Amino acid sequence: LSPVPSDIEISRAQTPKAVDVLAKEIGLLADEIEIYGKSKAKVCLSLLERLKDQADGKYVLVAGITPTPLGEGKSTVTVGLVQALTAHLNINSFACLRQPSQGPTFGVKGGAAGGGYAQVIPMEEFNLHLTGDIHAITAANNLLAAAIDTRIFHENTQTDKSLYNRLVPSVNGVREFSNIQLARLKKLGINKTDPSALTEEEVSRFARLNIDPATITWQRVLDTNDRFLRKITIGQASTEKGYSRQAQFDIAVASEIMAVLALTDSLKDMKERLGRMVVASDRNGQPVTAEDLGVTGALTVLMKDAIKPNLMQTLEGTPVFVHAGPFANIAHGNSSVLADKIALKLVGKEGFVVTEAGFGADIGMEKFFNIKCRASGLVPNVVVLVATVRALKMHGGGPGVIAGVPLKKEYTEENIQLVADGCCNLQKQIQIAQLFGVPVVVALNVFKTDTRAEIDLVCELAKRAGAFDAVPCYHWSMGGKGSVDLAWAVREAASKRSRFQFLYDVQLPVVEKIRTIAQAVYGAKDIELSPEAQSKIDLYTQQGFGNLPICMAKTHLSLSHQPDKKGVPRDFILPISDVRASIGAGFIYPLVGTMSTMPGLPTRPCFYDIDLDTETEQVQGLF
Ligand code: ADP
Repeated sequence: LSPVPSDIEISRAQTPKAVDVLAKEIGLLADEIEIYGKSKAKVCLSLLERLKDQADGKYVLVAGITPTPLGEGKSTVTVGLVQALTAHLNINSFACLRQPSQGPTFGVKGGAAGGGYAQVIPMEEFNLHLTGDIHAITAANNLLAAAIDTRIFHENTQTDKSLYNRLVPSVNGVREFSNIQLARLKKLGINKTDPSALTEEEVSRFARLNIDPATITWQRVLDTNDRFLRKITIGQASTEKGYSRQAQFDIAVASEIMAVLALTDSLKDMKERLGRMVVASDRNGQPVTAEDLGVTGALTVLMKDAIKPNLMQTLEGTPVFVHAGPFANIAHGNSSVLADKIALKLVGKEGFVVTEAGFGADIGMEKFFNIKCRASGLVPNVVVLVATVRALKMHGGGPGVIAGVPLKKEYTEENIQLVADGCCNLQKQIQIAQLFGVPVVVALNVFKTDTRAEIDLVCELAKRAGAFDAVPCYHWSMGGKGSVDLAWAVREAASKRSRFQFLYDVQLPVVEKIRTIAQAVYGAKDIELSPEAQSKIDLYTQQGFGNLPICMAKTHLSLSHQPDKKGVPRDFILPISDVRASIGAGFIYPLVGTMSTMPGLPTRPCFYDIDLDTETEQVQGLF
């Protein structure tokens, strides 16, 4: 339709096919799905075993140029591309998307189901609870948080002996270690299985974790933008006997458990990763893990359903996995390894899996290659780099683009010079993809104000910069048929041999890995470490975590650390203010400037527009 209706009107106008019908169409057996409602299902991991001899399809990553705060359409391109491949070229394909946080849904406008005629439906189910994975993460995360403070409290208020007697209670006169306790004894080098055989010194070592409260890095989480929880004091009731401390809440998707979910490849691996998560140091500077707190099994139980990818569909009835959505600020911002792996089997050798990386290519794509592909062992065939005339004009010197404020005339009228000047950002992002040896197809996501001359110029300059191809796409206004040219170009690029390589060797010292990313990807002259960052690097290296990949926490609004520096900033020194670690997920994350892990609500949040029609039970006002 013209004009294109709102996302929710388009979504609602299409009745999704029943999810069991979709599951059957894509080759799933009845006992391989667990249905949630009418249009969502979880897919069982047993499928990977059944299809283990099936060759993988082609693996396509959708990344973007440095975006405006409005987003340039990566999700929309991802959906448009699979609609074009499956519904118009008759090639099996799967889209793999992240599950969005509910924080922004009620805060600043922006769904993540794509938009226009390239959407995942029903979009309200996609954007709201889905199948409860984020709630499971919240429950698991907060159980671990409670375990930490409670343990400190009990250690502070009890003698070694009474702690021990409670940790290893006598049942009908018999004391026995649980499996998790036997594992802890082994870690402590105490080779005893009889609880009565421990010496006094061993009892003390076993019973006390001696967590140093000042080193706790594990926070409580909530899937609501609540700025008043950024800094809190816990333990103020008299029952906690004065053991209070300052703490904070993060948004749920910033939990390390979300990153674990996104990077794991089996239940067994997830359990090991959950157990390895480091929550603090003890008073001797040794890492304290979830396993030390005895909570690994319980966390795995809480996460046992969340590990299964969620099956949904596009507007044109093609399959989509929505699974995991780690915060792109401090984690790697990519959907799950498991969804990609299962989808690659389901599409078959000639099929395509299109997966999306958050933020610009300098961040999301770099982490996709260096962290996600390293964890999964999967080799990408093509990068689709999404660009818009709007963002290129901003990089060429156009006025600032602000969410909620109408665009200035530079963006709504033809301006060839701004586009030409801004293409430097596109060229740089193409070069970044080439560092990894993967062919790039530029997808110019066309808006109705873009002119023919502007579109031709971008495609011409992209090809000159080394893109395998560059094509305009019209999926937002036309659905899959508007992206048929993109689908052909991607198919052609995927027929070339991938020369994929990582950017750095994980065995390099942490500082060298950070410097390599800063210089080769961002174009920095060098890096500058704060004393805090240096001492954390020393600590993690000494604790044996120095060989993990790096997950940079940098603004996505510039190639540099300064969001207002557009185009291709040069000669800057990248400041590393602090360094943190997600040991279970498996990366070290340097902070470039300060990163908020709990967003706030604006003066007029989206919840003003969201309502339920109590007659029809329809959700209103979601985008
Ligand atoms: P990203 O994934 O890069 O953040 P999205 O795909 O979510 O971007 O798109 C951001 C917003 O822009 C969505 O609301 C979407 O509907 C809208 N949008 C995307 N492409 C177009 C287009 N070609 N014309 C108009 N609006 C668009």
